[in-house]
Amino acid sequence: MADETDYYAILGVPKTASADEIKKAYRKFAMKYHPDRNPGDKKAEETFKKGSEAYEVLSDPAKRQRYDQFGAEGVKSQFGPGGFNFDRDFTHAADLNDILSQMFSAMGGGGGRRRRGSIFDFFGGGGSAEPDPNGPQDGADLRYDLEIDLEEALFGATKEITLPLEKDCAACHGSGAAPGTSRERCRRCGGSGYVVAGNSWLQMQQPCPDCRGSGSVVRSPCKACGGSGRVKERTTVSLRIPRGVETGTRMRMAGHGEGGSRGGRPGDLHVFLHVRDNDLFERQGDDLLVTVPVAPDVAALGGDVEVPTPEGAARIRLAPGTPDGKVFRLRGKGCPVLNGRGSGDLLARIAVEIPARLTPEQKRALEDFRAAYDDRSYPVARAFRDRVATFLKAKAGLSS
Ligand SMILES: [Zn+2]
Ligand SMILES: [Zn+2]
Repeated sequence: MADETDYYAILGVPKTASADEIKKAYRKFAMKYHPDRNPGDKKAEETFKKGSEAYEVLSDPAKRQRYDQFGAEGVKSQFGPGGFNFDRDFTHAADLNDILSQMFSAMGGGGGRRRRGSIFDFFGGGGSAEPDPNGPQDGADLRYDLEIDLEEALFGATKEITLPLEKDCAACHGSGAAPGTSRERCRRCGGSGYVVAGNSWLQMQQPCPDCRGSGSVVRSPCKACGGSGRVKERTTVSLRIPRGVETGTRMRMAGHGEGGSRGGRPGDLHVFLHVRDNDLFERQGDDLLVTVPVAPDVAALGGDVEVPTPEGAARIRLAPGTPDGKVFRLRGKGCPVLNGRGSGDLLARIAVEIPARLTPEQKRALEDFRAAYDDRSYPVARAFRDRVATFLKAKAGLSS
């Protein structure tokens, strides 16, 4: 695998590659590693993310220059670790998706309105319809990865998510033209948004390079948005996490994605949950595993042992001679089942703890215990000695 920060190597292009070559290389790369093509393949997903990161940098001339000069550090986002990395995840989403939509538009039936840069269109298999550059555009769906604690997964929680959302600029109502002015018809394409290239027997329609297919241009750009018609605004949404969610649970917050344009609907926010490991309970589906230390005399003589459960302490009774590692199943004391009734089980695993230190009195008692040794007390050790004997006998038979 290539150096994780060698973006050229990741995409397999030389340092001198043109923008077009990089785009082509990324398209090829995406064809191979896109999650749609590798369902359930975590490694492909990771690789795809790396390649998309590489493309995001190399396809942006300013970033590429900084990267060439300073390396990956030079293009690190200003959002801290664990925070919401807007820059990396979404700035170029529309561009990436243009490429991906070209790739996958043949895969599904189109129809409906165009969504701006929505990765989820392709996950859902929908194709993109012929864009109407002046019609309403729906906002992009966004993905947000949220880490929560096991306690929050077990008992439910409310989490605040703050993220920069793109929406139409209020000053120019999304037109990009300074207030008091308006967009003007593009002279190059006469407002059609397309230009025709080629010769007399092969003609191709291409999006107009001056207006990028919109048919109109901004002569005096709006100051608030720099003429793009879009602004980013930090927005906080409140997410109610129900009991019983687990890593991989996805929650859709309808209308909390990027804002729509020219009357388009806002996209959705898809929250992917990741439950952190807990050092008391280990999650196994809807069951919880807890390891309970038990003194050797309790395991040998039998007795009651207290076991923690999410809802409080429970007691189990150990029979005399309970072996180390024995698992007790406490029905219905595990994780609540998401959207369902009841709960999984609690699995309490006995871990016999050898005393770390002995008082003189305990030492004397154990020496008495050793003096009273009886072979029949240890069936495992007896079976073990038998296996050793069998092995040695077979060995002797082979060497004679
Ligand atoms: Zn504006
Ligand atoms: Zn034009």
